[in-house]
Amino acid sequence: MSWESTAVYYRLLNEIVRARLGGLHSAQILLWSFDFHEVEACQAAGRWDQATALMVAAARRLETGGAEILLIGTNTMHKMADEVQSAVSIPLLHIADATAEPVKRRGLARIGLLATAYTMEQDFYRGRLEARHGLEVLVPDAAGRKAVHDIIYDELCRGVIRPESKARYQEVAADLLAAGAEGVILGCTEVGLLLQEGDVPAPVFDTTYLHAEAAVDMALA
Ligand code: GLU
Repeated sequence: MSWESTAVYYRLLNEIVRARLGGLHSAQILLWSFDFHEVEACQAAGRWDQATALMVAAARRLETGGAEILLIGTNTMHKMADEVQSAVSIPLLHIADATAEPVKRRGLARIGLLATAYTMEQDFYRGRLEARHGLEVLVPDAAGRKAVHDIIYDELCRGVIRPESKARYQEVAADLLAAGAEGVILGCTEVGLLLQEGDVPAPVFDTTYLHAEAAVDMALA
């Protein structure tokens, strides 16, 4: 979620399967697509218990429907990844793990993070990158975090792509590099709609792509 990035996930999962298997192969997917209005209302009000209940219910439906691997197609809603994993018996492929592996393979240790305020400011995501993967995570200053967060919810999740917002993201990313980051994690699944490799003078790690790629690896293994 939002569905703007779900659409990207759907395309990527199918494209990666086609690239791996060739011909007319495509990804077998069960998709639970949320009404993002409901989820965002829970986030904004801090009703994380209610948001967790929505996530757990969706995960159970997918498992009952026959899913063998579970993906949460958003970084922010990994806040309740542990609760979701405990509610089902299929494995949850965590987006932070799928992202950290290529960062480490590239030999980077200090990484900038562009994401929602929840992801940049709370511990559930940064903490996992740091504790499990030994990465040092840099986030923008308060003004930068607010700009990145607002552009996600006010524009990208609504399908609005503005060149001035891309320039703002480039500015924030440049500040992170100036502060010592060796690369930038696009730690929100919509950020890739605005910023890609080449837009920033350092390696860029798009969580949507990396999560989809790791899921295909896991499914085909
Ligand atoms: N897609 C976003 C993320 O990856 C933000 C939307 C949400 O709150 O789930 O964090």
